[in-house]
Amino acid sequence: MNAKPQGLQALFGGTFDPIHYGHLRPVEALAKQVGLQKVILLPNHVPPHRPQPEASPAQRLEMVKLAIQDNPLFSVDTRELRRDTPSFTLETLSELRQELGEQQPLAFIIGQDSLLSINTWHGWTQLLDKCHLLVCARPGYATHFDAPDMQQWLQQHQVTEPQILSETPSGSIFIGDTPLVNISATEIREQLGLGQACDDLLPRAVYHYIQQQNLYQK
Ligand code: ATP
Repeated sequence: MNAKPQGLQALFGGTFDPIHYGHLRPVEALAKQVGLQKVILLPNHVPPHRPQPEASPAQRLEMVKLAIQDNPLFSVDTRELRRDTPSFTLETLSELRQELGEQQPLAFIIGQDSLLSINTWHGWTQLLDKCHLLVCARPGYATHFDAPDMQQWLQQHQVTEPQILSETPSGSIFIGDTPLVNISATEIREQLGLGQACDDLLPRAVYHYIQQQNLYQK
């Protein structure tokens, strides 16, 4: 028997190599807008044929834990990291659906860049059967799809009232009015590689851990 549906639950997947304020700030704002009590960070297992993260899975997880240690909004789910094989988001969502039941409102948070390339994700057309998509703005990325069929898909599913996200288990896309934070993990790795300070781009505890572990230094 699945548990009785709770409020809207939200997951936020990423490589987090490293986690930074571009991940945290927009999601905090989104949580306020939508009324999320909890956001579960889901660090990815990166498949061997993709460019590998510079930090190990254990280091990426430690950085996530340090980033959220004083922030009760966030928790972390290590199920993808613990697996021997990479998992597709759709598979993880299907697994969660089994655990939570068909009625539980469930959302997956992505940045605007991920929305624009969502049709490259494995089984992307089934994602909205499993969850809602909550989208954070990201500077430098268009607010519309170029492809008319993708723009139509967005318009078919987009809702502007967050209430519906808690009243239905899945199927809607909500574009948050979130702050534009111009930070990427790539930029942080590059700056650290050049020996430049970037302590304003990520939580202090994460920055100290990076230094202590000599991460991202060339
Ligand atoms: P990289 O530069 O290594 O590609 P990244 O900074 O884009 O990394 P990821 O861990 O790949 O970070 O991103 C996880 C999720 O966070 C994705 O959905 C991405 O769209 C979103 N995201 C990352 N940075 C930002 C940002 N500055 N603003 C909004 N969303 C972001």
